[in-house]
Amino acid sequence: MKKISILGLIAALAVSACSPKTGDMLGSTQEAAFDQKPIETSINLTNVADDRLLVQINPGMFTQDTDTVLFRMPRVVQGTYSISDFGTFAEGFKAFSYDSTEMGVAKTDSNTWAIPNAQNLDRLEYYVNDTFDIEGSDQPTPFSPAGTNISENVFVLNLHGFVGYFEGREDHGYEISITHPLEMNYSSALTRISADTTGQNVSITYRADRYFDVTDNPMMYGDLTQERFEAGGIEIVFSVYSPSGNHTASQYRDVVNTMMQAQSNYIGDMETTDRYDIFLYLSSGQQDATGYGALEHQTSTVMIYPDQVNQQMLNSGLVDVVAHEFFHIITPLNVHSEDVHYFDYNDPTFSKHLWMYEGLTEYFASHFQVYEGLQSREAFYDKMLGKIQAASGMNDEMSFTVMSENVIDEPYASNFYNVYMKGALINMCLDIMMRDFSDNERSMISLMRTLSEKYGKDQPFEDDVIIGEITNMTYPEIGEFLQTHVVGTTPINYKEYFEMVGLTMTEVESDVTVFFRDQQTPFINVNQSTGEFYFMDTGLNSTLVELGVQPGDIIKSVNGVELNLQNARTFIGQTFQWTPDTDLTMILVRDGEEIEVSGKVGNPTAMSLKLVEMEDAGSDQVQLRNWWLGESAE
Ligand SMILES: [Zn+2]
Repeated sequence: MKKISILGLIAALAVSACSPKTGDMLGSTQEAAFDQKPIETSINLTNVADDRLLVQINPGMFTQDTDTVLFRMPRVVQGTYSISDFGTFAEGFKAFSYDSTEMGVAKTDSNTWAIPNAQNLDRLEYYVNDTFDIEGSDQPTPFSPAGTNISENVFVLNLHGFVGYFEGREDHGYEISITHPLEMNYSSALTRISADTTGQNVSITYRADRYFDVTDNPMMYGDLTQERFEAGGIEIVFSVYSPSGNHTASQYRDVVNTMMQAQSNYIGDMETTDRYDIFLYLSSGQQDATGYGALEHQTSTVMIYPDQVNQQMLNSGLVDVVAHEFFHIITPLNVHSEDVHYFDYNDPTFSKHLWMYEGLTEYFASHFQVYEGLQSREAFYDKMLGKIQAASGMNDEMSFTVMSENVIDEPYASNFYNVYMKGALINMCLDIMMRDFSDNERSMISLMRTLSEKYGKDQPFEDDVIIGEITNMTYPEIGEFLQTHVVGTTPINYKEYFEMVGLTMTEVESDVTVFFRDQQTPFINVNQSTGEFYFMDTGLNSTLVELGVQPGDIIKSVNGVELNLQNARTFIGQTFQWTPDTDLTMILVRDGEEIEVSGKVGNPTAMSLKLVEMEDAGSDQVQLRNWWLGESAE
């Protein structure tokens, strides 16, 4: 999964808009309760009722000694590390016996229905509401790339949002039939077993070998533009939904092609997939998805991004986000622990190794770009430094393994975002060490190749022994680093690792705007629980200092306009149009009391860190740097 910080994207949007109008249980003990017919499920997209879809499920025959069975929608899906409660979007749940009478059903929690006398159960039906259009309402919604959309123009079928499972039957097969109008475009990575045309509609039946495959194979139907091409030996199916029609798959085919080819080169000789589906849903932002980013699957990804971005921004967004999701094929998809492999959708346990699943994935997604010559070294340096700065706003003394294991609880949940920041940096240090100790014979990508050969998608590792195993496979220093900085709570001194490759961090005075250091790094942050914006303690700019602003001050209003999450994009867009003569008045809240500050915008500057190459770097340092970043970028 990759979550994009709201502020980072707001900033990027504001800059671009010149006129700112804008996640298999082994049910071994109870297997006998079912016959082996697949669970038949049907969904008819031509029959939307009150923005809902009817889901019909025929579970096959339960044996005579079956009493109560539990039917569940997932509480958590893999890759999201948060609670989704898909059961809260299902309603009108009915169970019918073989003589077509309605049976008594008890909803026992948000996601569970208990069906007594299941030996009489013939079929189930229920309606499902979509999640995108109520994002931002009082009802909690899943992370958008795991969510669902039902509309005339486009259906986002993350199937775990529609199709549930019988407890203990997670490894039972499914046949899922989707009926759609003949002319409607669609794509699905699931294996298609039949198609029946009736009048103007067609019903396609897909097979899923177990519930994991139901959750792991999203579909998109609707007004899609699509491109199909081969890149790096993989058949890419790229489907784009853009409500404005401003973005089409053909516009982005080249950038996706170049990226996938480069990723394939970077991964080298490792089994990935024959086909990869990219589902790009561009959101209008109004009663629509706002959780920007993407979710990984074995053979596909669903990415959500704002429709308002321009082509250049979507190009770089696609590279950063889709590359990240594709690299997830390495981990956790091919290298993962038992917690991931035997995932419990209702009451999951979490692995200790997000430093690897998310951190390493994010590192690869940045590193391959410079290593394969898609990006300059300077851009890569800026990106790594940006991660150091973003990580500095989070708890640097929190054990990554403890955070990982407890990721849905506080205080860990609010530090999850650090997996993309410090998580990537952990792996940057490890990669530099691996290349140094092996004279560039080995690296983090070669380590993962070895681990994926040993484990692969069907064989989990033991959560508590993998660090010891990696240590035995590599160098004692790698084990020591992991114990100290990943298991342990000691912050990393990045300077040491930069020094190894002849890089140094230096402060330079740079022009900034009142609220942003650069496109990615704001001086302000938002408290997600209260929606309040405040000034961070990562340094202020000259204008803010002159106004008397202090770190921690909450921003109530700016020039008479109250600042909140709803108007932040428009507001920030306007700030980029300020001139040095613009008058600026802010009402701030400090220690519970309102204060007013005012003055001119002026020409704000701030001391900014830059990661630069040492002029007096020795040949060993330069050699290691070239090994690390790839000779091709020299
Ligand atoms: Zn991820």
